[in-house]
Amino acid sequence: MTTEVTNLSAFNNSSKSREANFSGLSISRSIANFYGIIIAAVILSLWAINLGILLSIDIRKLQFLWLIPAIFWQTFLYAGLFITAHDAMHGVVFPANLKINHSLGAIAVFLYGLFDYKDLLKKHWLHHRYPATELDPDYHDRVHKSFFGWYFHFMKGYSNWKQLLGLALVFLLLAEGLHIAKINLVLFWIVPSLLSSLQLFYFGTYLTHREPKEGYTNQHRATSNNLSPFWSFITCYHFGYHKEHHDHPHLPWWKLPEVYQK
Ligand SMILES: [Zn+2]
Ligand SMILES: [Zn+2]
Repeated sequence: MTTEVTNLSAFNNSSKSREANFSGLSISRSIANFYGIIIAAVILSLWAINLGILLSIDIRKLQFLWLIPAIFWQTFLYAGLFITAHDAMHGVVFPANLKINHSLGAIAVFLYGLFDYKDLLKKHWLHHRYPATELDPDYHDRVHKSFFGWYFHFMKGYSNWKQLLGLALVFLLLAEGLHIAKINLVLFWIVPSLLSSLQLFYFGTYLTHREPKEGYTNQHRATSNNLSPFWSFITCYHFGYHKEHHDHPHLPWWKLPEVYQK
């Protein structure tokens, strides 16, 4: 992983010098470091606490209408787990200590779905280096360009049998070992993780890297959505300000509105 981390740091650093000249970005690095790890800890804690509560409730006593916000809230927190890991891949969760930074990233993707952080880091580095090309693991295969075709191709590239077997074992352990109701596991553990993968793919890959009618117009082959900072946060933690993310890969997600230009 060291090589990839070094490479990724180098590519992040290459933008840092440009960023130093960017007016309006005056938060000192020490404060930014502090915010990054606190925000990551809040997201991870909310995810864990909310999941714990939802897995322990008696669903028969819950009014049906409450199911929808409960699932959506957990989906939003799942997306937060991934966004935290993504920031860790760019070394901005805790820049003062990259070992802690990458450990938090590894924990976040493991909790998300037993993903291998090293593998994701390597693929994300390729995504930034060769965006929307055949070398980009996040890009479609030039055959399946539709939303679902591309999504399944994307998911296939990030899943493997070992991981799926691991998830099945965790399900059995939670259901049979800890006696958590299977319906709770399906509704609050499986469904939100799948929904958030659709959310992340739609707002962070499909809308942002599909080829516009007029063709790609920038070196990152990326576009940003037109959402206000509020809706940008609600939809995908500003991941939709994607051109800005590629332009300033060392900025954490919560600082992207500062550099977003309509
Ligand atoms: Zn991208
Ligand atoms: Zn990135």
